[in-house]
Amino acid sequence: ASAWSNVPQGPPPAGITEAFKADTNAEKINLGVGAYRDDKGKPFVLPSVRQAEKKLVDSALDKEYAGITGVPAFTKAALQLAYGPDSVPLKEDRIAITQTISGTGALRIGGAFLERFYPGAKSVYIPNPSWANHNAVFKDSGLKVEKYRYYNKDTIGLDFDGMVADIKAMPKGSIIMLHACAHNPTGVDPTEEQWLKIAQAVKEGEHFPFFDMAYQGFASGDTNKDAFALRHFIKEGLRPALCQSFAKNMGLYGERVGAFSIVCESAEEKKRVDSQIKILVRPLYSNPPIHGARIASTILNDPALNKQWLGEVKDMADRIITMRALLKENLEKLGSKHDWSHITSQIGMFAYTGLKPEQMDVLAKEHSVYATKDGRISVAGITSGNVKRLAEAIYKVTG
Ligand code: PLP
Repeated sequence: ASAWSNVPQGPPPAGITEAFKADTNAEKINLGVGAYRDDKGKPFVLPSVRQAEKKLVDSALDKEYAGITGVPAFTKAALQLAYGPDSVPLKEDRIAITQTISGTGALRIGGAFLERFYPGAKSVYIPNPSWANHNAVFKDSGLKVEKYRYYNKDTIGLDFDGMVADIKAMPKGSIIMLHACAHNPTGVDPTEEQWLKIAQAVKEGEHFPFFDMAYQGFASGDTNKDAFALRHFIKEGLRPALCQSFAKNMGLYGERVGAFSIVCESAEEKKRVDSQIKILVRPLYSNPPIHGARIASTILNDPALNKQWLGEVKDMADRIITMRALLKENLEKLGSKHDWSHITSQIGMFAYTGLKPEQMDVLAKEHSVYATKDGRISVAGITSGNVKRLAEAIYKVTG
């Protein structure tokens, strides 16, 4: 018999892409993809990325291995971007960082580090709901996954009281994973005022904050504003871990550029943490790929390109914000009696429409509009050319 005769068949993927491809309607709309699209619905390569790549090619660099923790010019710039140039732990050289295989790799290295060294319970609390892969990544890192309240389906907003109550009820010293901005899948973020209270509750519980920041700049259009929560926690004296991704904010999806960092108590502690991160990474993949990190590093370290990139991030965020407004406006124009204010109050790539699985089915079958069953739509898939038809479809389905 084959060695694999007992391998069970895994479940099929969600199937949006397949169903979308099979649909012959010329006006079909795909709102399932987690990647930015331009107003023509096409994948978008940032001009700053094209320029950085050209610079890289022209400079004819060698292809030697990076160190275990990656391209130093990249990780140094990633720290500046996330923590801010005035960050105290950064100035005191007490943040350990490693380049990772994008945000997912950062989560996995982070999960593995906590599993190996976190002195408290090896459980991580994630919001309910959360990006579907969080559960799998942390579980496969050897952590137990618990949930805290986050989304209130009645208000289609944040269950702030539930969230704070759950943080207060966690055993002292729990690991809590927080989406730094543009919560996926809901698009619902705490306000800055709410973050202050969340930080307070985390501090009081002596919990360990673990930030996933996959959308810095992509949420509000401002990389500093989107880093508010992370930087506030640090001001409060907390020492978080952080996962960064450059997939969305630089459109480097397939290049897999990310970083994992931990704020330490001292430069000496940082050295020890750094040595253990290296011991973790070495047997996994030895060292990370260089090309994407060089692109990001070129953009972050060249003042003119950096400025250009910040403008391009803002343009992407603004297009998303405009599409949210247009969708809401079109629904209202059609006379929809529902309150669609959540469409514009939510932030980032995704909108949680509040539509039920049955309604999502009808959207797909009768209107050729494809998105996940939980009612999440990728706003990046909306264009000035399809928003009217989309609003009509949602209007028909929601009555
Ligand atoms: N974290 C969140 C919340 C995400 O939404 C994503 C991507 O969709 C990621 C992490 C990881 O993305 P990547 O591995 O492409 O950087």
